[in-house]
Amino acid sequence: MQEGSRRSGIAASVRMSETAYEYNPQGENVMWQCQRANCGYIYDPKKGDRKGKIPPGTRFEDLPDDWTCPLCGAGKHMFKRIDA
Ligand SMILES: [Zn+2]
Repeated sequence: MQEGSRRSGIAASVRMSETAYEYNPQGENVMWQCQRANCGYIYDPKKGDRKGKIPPGTRFEDLPDDWTCPLCGAGKHMFKRIDA
């Protein structure tokens, strides 16, 4: 009884802060950073890339192979995953 109500309380608070991403900690929440010197652009899958016509919610892995950094033009291979 107590156990059940505590669990649902946590779930409710998570849902309030983040809507669609809480079930995918290994995918859509993972950010990648451009490793080129003087760039440092961070790809946030929750935002996508407006300039590259990438809709919000697109995982880095799902970006087209010809996608490039919107700041410096580096390819996907220049990006490194940021582990929280
Ligand atoms: Zn870059």
